[in-house]
Amino acid sequence: MEEKRLSPNDILKNYLEEHSLRKTPERFAILDEIYSNSGHFNIETLYESMKSKNYRVSLATLYNNIDILIDAGLLVKHRFEKGNTYEKTMDSMKHDHFICTGCGRIYEVPLSGNMDVNAEVSKRYGFDVSSYFLTMYGVCNICKELKNKK
Ligand SMILES: [Zn+2]
Ligand SMILES: [Zn+2]
Repeated sequence: MEEKRLSPNDILKNYLEEHSLRKTPERFAILDEIYSNSGHFNIETLYESMKSKNYRVSLATLYNNIDILIDAGLLVKHRFEKGNTYEKTMDSMKHDHFICTGCGRIYEVPLSGNMDVNAEVSKRYGFDVSSYFLTMYGVCNICKELKNKK
């Protein structure tokens, strides 16, 4: 029998209840904003996009709630060179990252989506994996072309 998957909203609701945290509309608005967009973001871009929709939320509130969403397993934090980048863990295509050491662009390259790394790591080491991303470093096509033109 297939288990019914919880929505991001339900997961947050459960998490807040378990941790005796208040279910403020603000928290769900932040989750909603994150899950209605795709790709990577940082706190500043999230702040700007919420502000542009006339949703007044302070940076401090965002930081605090981002931590909650990470702890609840709804977000993952990548420590790329240019500071922290965040990404939702549900509803997004499984992908790996290629970071260009020339221009700093981050490319999403679906590669290891079929490998059950989570199960393997949990079997071998007993760790509980909530999400994983492979990060590769190298030079992208754009940089290679620029270099060839010189
Ligand atoms: Zn590049
Ligand atoms: Zn990504």
